[in-house]
Amino acid sequence: MIRFGPAGIPLECPGSGTLDGIKYCAEIKLSAMEMEFVHGVRMKDDSAAQVNKTAKELGISLSSHAPYYINLCTDDPTKLANTKRHIFEAGRVTALAGGSITVFHPGFYQKLSQKEAFDEAKKNLKSIVEDLKQHNIKIRLGAETVGKKSAFGGLLENIALSQSVEMVEPAIDFAHLHARGDFRIKGEDDYKKIFDLLERELPGYPQKFHCHFSEINYSDKGELNHFVLGTNNEPPFRPFMKVLAENGYSGTVICETPKMEKDALTMKAEYARVKG
Ligand SMILES: [Zn+2]
Repeated sequence: MIRFGPAGIPLECPGSGTLDGIKYCAEIKLSAMEMEFVHGVRMKDDSAAQVNKTAKELGISLSSHAPYYINLCTDDPTKLANTKRHIFEAGRVTALAGGSITVFHPGFYQKLSQKEAFDEAKKNLKSIVEDLKQHNIKIRLGAETVGKKSAFGGLLENIALSQSVEMVEPAIDFAHLHARGDFRIKGEDDYKKIFDLLERELPGYPQKFHCHFSEINYSDKGELNHFVLGTNNEPPFRPFMKVLAENGYSGTVICETPKMEKDALTMKAEYARVKG
């Protein structure tokens, strides 16, 4: 089963709260929504409990996006403390809201080598996971594949993080993979290669994957901005839907285009068409 949903409260939703967004998604027949905590986790615990109840009643699967102000590869004590607090708090509130995964941008290389950045991120993630476990918080932490070459968090790095830190798994942003140049995606074979790699390195992941999808504009440094479906066809969504349908993969596709809920419905319709 594939769930489709928007990255945040749908644009045409009449209300502006998370509950309004969940109800609107159910109304237009989407079954997932990502809660955008990107400027800070501001949801109160009692609201999260209400969100949990409503999402369950309406069959909406929730995830969240942690704040942007995160760098797991830093040794600056203030930045590191904030990074840990943001991921912990996003995970805690998402779990309270009944969400299954909190997505985060892993960090930046700055002066570090790839190996140094990886070791730092691994050490810091482990300490966050310890803290979550001590508080008995059950949440998946999704290391998002980043779109810029200067950012730490390519697919191979995130797979390795997932292999070395429990609760952590990759969150696949296909537009970022394409824009960063790690995996240029032109058609079915390219999607299949990515899922084959995931299955090989993280057995079972293609049955519970979490991904972001958009078309994207980019330069040789990586991502520039997101496009609506049908703008440049990079990466192309139709072969993606075909690969999902033909291989029986299961998971969530969060649409991040400038017309997120409308394009999520377009993908859902295409998936249903190829699935037959
Ligand atoms: Zn993101």
